Amino acid sequence: MCVFCKIVNGEIPSYKIYETKNTLAFLDISQNTKGHTLVIPKRHVENIFDLDEETAKELFVSVTKTANLLKEKLGFDAANLLNNNGKDAGQVVNHYHIHIIPRYGNDECYFHEAPHDANFEELSKLHKQITE
Ligand code: AMP
Repeated sequence: MCVFCKIVNGEIPSYKIYETKNTLAFLDISQNTKGHTLVIPKRHVENIFDLDEETAKELFVSVTKTANLLKEKLGFDAANLLNNNGKDAGQVVNHYHIHIIPRYGNDECYFHEAPHDANFEELSKLHKQITE
């Protein structure tokens, strides 16, 4: 059984922050910044490609409520949401989860690549490939 299913079942402990019938939010064991929290569906869903619409709706409402709860209690006013899907995207735990990472000035937490120049020819081709 996967580690997050064990958390849902109460087989291993977690620091729960928020819970609904089908979702759970708990502190990430390795805090990127203070308040780093994961929000998961309770049912084992591997990644975004397996997530059904109903669960997605409930999950995103839980993400919103959890983010606001953390904001209120910890007093930050910025946060990154992060979600890795699949090995090549850096997913380590194969149970769908959204990271809420509160951001504080000078917290030395870096995610962003330097922006590239826009290539409109490539963008236009890509847009066609996706939409046609
Ligand atoms: P990802 O790379 O998106 O799959 O991230 C997995 C996250 O799960 C990491 O940030 C880990 O620190 C976190 N994690 C792994 N095991 C636990 C656990 N038992 N309790 C809380 N967070 C965990």
